[in-house]
Formats: sequence, structure tokens, C-alpha cells
Amino acid sequence: ALSIGIVGLPNVGKSTLFNALTKAQNAESANYAFCTIEPNKAVVPVPDVRIDKLSELVKPQRTQSSTVDFIDIAGLVAGASKGEGLGNKFLGNIRETQAILHVVRCFDNDDVIHVSNSVDPIRDIDIIETELILSDVQILENRVERMAKQIKGDKSLGPKVEEGKKLLEYMNNGNQANTYDKLDTDIMVELLKDLRLITSKKVIYCANVDEDGLTEDNDYVKSVMKLAEERGAAFVKISAKMEEELIGLEDEEYEDFLESYGVTESGLAKIIRTGFHTLGMISYFTAGVKEVRAWTINDGDKAPRAAAAIHTDFEKGFIRAEVIGYEDYIKHGTEAACRAAGVLRSEGKEYVFKDGDVVHFLFNV
Ligand code: GDP
Repeated sequence: ALSIGIVGLPNVGKSTLFNALTKAQNAESANYAFCTIEPNKAVVPVPDVRIDKLSELVKPQRTQSSTVDFIDIAGLVAGASKGEGLGNKFLGNIRETQAILHVVRCFDNDDVIHVSNSVDPIRDIDIIETELILSDVQILENRVERMAKQIKGDKSLGPKVEEGKKLLEYMNNGNQANTYDKLDTDIMVELLKDLRLITSKKVIYCANVDEDGLTEDNDYVKSVMKLAEERGAAFVKISAKMEEELIGLEDEEYEDFLESYGVTESGLAKIIRTGFHTLGMISYFTAGVKEVRAWTINDGDKAPRAAAAIHTDFEKGFIRAEVIGYEDYIKHGTEAACRAAGVLRSEGKEYVFKDGDVVHFLFNV
């Protein structure tokens, strides 16, 4: 599953945001009974009007959205990479995720103590990212040293050690791996395989503001936006507190609540959408009377790979896929009508899935 780790200094609003995510999970928990509940994980449905529209047409027994796992990684403080405050365990948890949501405090409030006694988002980001870099450097250093010892027996390791040392130097100067310009060379990919460097992951900077900060961007927010832009990273602005209050409200109440804050979309929806987009994911749908369901794949996946989202055996046994474009499905209303109109296509192994495709697979078991 797609997973995003939530990091940030203490008292910036991580738990408040995570509570909102957990409530969003519990609001849908009947649909996700198969998920094991873990205290630091929230499995949250991806909001998508298309799955609602398909369900209205098909009227299935149940509907299931794509989900994103959010992992709460509390306990990250200055010194974490040296093992302070259980730091290393938390860093290990982030290593397993695919992207990072970095929550930054962008609100003033004298009642909420800031661990460094003042609100300064750029400094805060720097504190956290320094720990992440230090942790990665340790891991990379170990790997490079081990390889250097093995060069005598295996000359092919030479170039990897050379490239690894260059990356180490770059990171020791305070840089994150994901800004290194030679990260996708063959040697580097091979070297970094299974190291799961935290700073090579995509980052979404999440400015947490108070209720007043939603309509207008304060200077804290502007500084984070600028930093995100310079890094080529994603950015979202939320109010964690508002998100908590928003969960559980229905339709009209929900809309009114958003409107009273001067926004059109919830922050959770923005985060989930941004996360999905940042990781290059798309959804396709299966639409039967038992279940209408969204499946998550990488943009660019060919049909057999896409089938594996449903079951790993489907990839090997793939024969072909019957595909209806989302707009066509909505226009004609049923699969039979699509077939009659000639918009149901039979696609083979080379077909690249499009976002929103409605699909039937034919496969060997
Ligand atoms: P964590 O340590 O990063 O998990 O931070 P918490 O979620 O515990 O939040 C720390 C304090 O900031 C709590 O008292 C929250 O109520 C407050 N807080 C968090 N988000 C917001 C927000 O969006 N607006 C306001 N006004 N306060 C917030």
C-alpha cells in the first residue's frame, strides 16, 4: 500500500492531524475490516468523485476507495539520529514509507509552547532534516565502508565506492539525497538499492495554520511555500484543528463548515490528493454488482502490472483486459450499453492504463 510518514518537531500539530486521519479511517472502518488496526497507522480512503458516480450507476453491495496509509512518526527531535529519545527506532519507521509529510508549525499561540521558544518554520525544517540526513549518512557510510573492504575480491565494486563517497560528501555538507543530480545513474541506483534513504524520498511540506490563516497566507506560510518551490517539493496548507472538527460532519453541514473557513476542500483531501500525485499514482476501477472498487497503480503501468494490484497471480496469468474509459462509462451508464456503443475495448499486454479506466480482466489461474 501507498504509505506516507508524518514527521515534524514536537508541538507543531502532528497528533492533531493524525487524530483527524484516524477519525477518517474509523468513519469508513466497516469497509476496511481487513485492515489490522495499528496505533500509529491510519488507513484513509482517497476522496474521488468518480467512484461515487460509478456507485450511483452500478448500485453495488459495497464501494471501496483507494487508500493511503499514514504513519505517525512521533518522537523525532534534535539528536534522534544519535539514538536520543528512541530516535533510531522512529527513523527506521520512516525508512519503510514511500513519502514524507513534513508538518511545520505556521501559527502563533502563546498557549502552545514551541520546543525552540519561537515560531520559525525554516529553522524547524532544518532541525528535522538535519537528523534525517545524519541518519542516512550513517547508513550510507556503513554500506560504502563494507564495499571498500570487498574491492580486492570484487573489482566491480570500485565505481560504486567512488560514487558513494561523492554522495557522502554531498550529504555531509548538509544536503538531502533527493537533490543530488546523479541519483538515477545505474551505479547509484544499484548502490542505493534497499538502503531506503529517508532523504531520497519525496517530501510534502505541510504548513499547519490556525483558523485565521486559512484564507490568507501569513509570512510563515509564505516562507515554507518558497522553500518547497526551491526544492521542487509539494506543498499543502491545512489547519489540523479544523480537520479534527470536520470529520463526521455530513454533506450540507460539511460544506457549510468549509465555507465558514473560506475554503472549498478539506485539508485531508488536499494532503491525500497531493500524496497520490506526488508519488505518480493513478486509480482504475472495477465495477460489479457486488463491489465497485478503486485500485492504485503507478502512472505508466501496463495491463499485467495493473492487474497485479488486485492479485499478484493476475500478472502472470494475464490474458487481456476489457476496458471502458471513465467518461464513456458515465455517458452510457452500463457496461452493456458501452459494449453496444462500441466503446468497450479489448486490450492486451502492452496497454498502458489510464487514470479512471473501468476494467474487467481475463486471466488464467
Ligand atoms: P505534535 O506534538 O506535533 O503532535 O502536536 P499536537 O498535535 O499535539 O499539537 C500541539 C498543540 O498545538 C495542541 O495544543 C494543539 O491543540 C495545537 N494545534 C495543533 N494544530 C493546531 C491548529 O491548526 N490551530 C491551532 N490554533 N492550534 C493547533
